[in-house]
Amino acid sequence: MIRVSARGATDVGRIRSANEDSFHVGDSVFAVADGMGGHLAGEVASETALQPVAELDGRVFANEAEALGALRQAVIDANTQVVTKAAGDPRYSGMGTTLTAVMIEGLRIHLAHVGDSRAYLLRGEKFSQITDDHTLVQRLVDEGRLTPEQAASHPQRSIITRAIGVEDHLEVDSLSLEARPNDVLLLCSDGLTGPVSDNEIRRILGSTTDLEEATTALVDAALERGAPDNVTVVLIRFESLNDQEAGRPPTVTVSSRPGETGEQDWAARLGRLGAFGSKQTGGEDAPQPRRSGPSRAQRIGGIVIAVALLVGAVVAGGRWLLSRSYYVGLAGEDIVIFQGVPVDLGPISLSWEYERTDLELDDVADFNHDNLMEGMTAADLNDARRIVANFRDEADGSDATAPATEEPTPEPSEPATQDPSPSPTQP
Ligand code: CA
Repeated sequence: MIRVSARGATDVGRIRSANEDSFHVGDSVFAVADGMGGHLAGEVASETALQPVAELDGRVFANEAEALGALRQAVIDANTQVVTKAAGDPRYSGMGTTLTAVMIEGLRIHLAHVGDSRAYLLRGEKFSQITDDHTLVQRLVDEGRLTPEQAASHPQRSIITRAIGVEDHLEVDSLSLEARPNDVLLLCSDGLTGPVSDNEIRRILGSTTDLEEATTALVDAALERGAPDNVTVVLIRFESLNDQEAGRPPTVTVSSRPGETGEQDWAARLGRLGAFGSKQTGGEDAPQPRRSGPSRAQRIGGIVIAVALLVGAVVAGGRWLLSRSYYVGLAGEDIVIFQGVPVDLGPISLSWEYERTDLELDDVADFNHDNLMEGMTAADLNDARRIVANFRDEADGSDATAPATEEPTPEPSEPATQDPSPSPTQP
């Protein structure tokens, strides 16, 4: 007899003023969605996308094919609903979301996935990412141009190549796998996996026997590292019950805040983690990560491919890209709001200064220095300004939170404004 326990937690993080992530923890369906689009739009996108998936909760299917088919269809329905909503209201124009959803029947896990939220499986000492990121850097990893380690810290890692709500046609990754007793499944947004390494996540999962503690510790780990983005985690544990316990009803616990606990031993002791675990998508093992760094030729090749992909994405009018087209970064020591994406490959830049601030690098806490050097992507201009406002509050030593005003985005006052569409072919 198997009991499935689950818990979810989400946190706005230290920089953003709104939480655009959403999650679902039900009886048999669990999901994470990471919305983008600014103001309320990102939140609307992620909540909208979860609805068709959540409607499958508790349903029983005739066979596995039907179950997986229904989950895939729910993700396609989610796309249709977000696309429709975005087209019907200018406030939601350009919104989108990731969606990583699992449906569990006994020990069977069905998974459907779009974007860069992730699913991981902890089995004994082995911790494996079981989803592929639909990101620019993952494509470069697949091409052998970047190692997984390089991708994990790559400044352009947040650029996604597939999302819910972008276009009518949607390609959905899906897989089914068999869980074993004591397995732990983690679903999470990139607000966790950006600041917290796979090794650290696995260490945390192995350090406590309590789901509540584990979700809190994962969120805390992201917060300790500056949490530049919304953080969402869902943990699902497959627990083998003895005859005595089997008489008890199944428990499913949902929380967005730590509450009471009460669980059994669930996580196996820690062991060594392979370079990136071993991926199993569709039952196939991914190639092992390279041990040595790429050669100069490979790096240049990677740059060429990256530029080609970006140009393709921009030319194709990827709304997801434009929706993330402001970021906070550095011009020398000065903190500046940039328009575009923080991509600077060789002579080609996809961003330009948009607004100077009165802050410098030394004004912000050390843990944000790396974030600023890489460029902190914002949902929109107001979001970028809020990031700056949070820095300013920090610099002033004030506890006052940034004003939550939703003032309309003003027209750029700089007369030297650029063409609003990035021109990736211009040096
Ligand atoms: Ca995110």
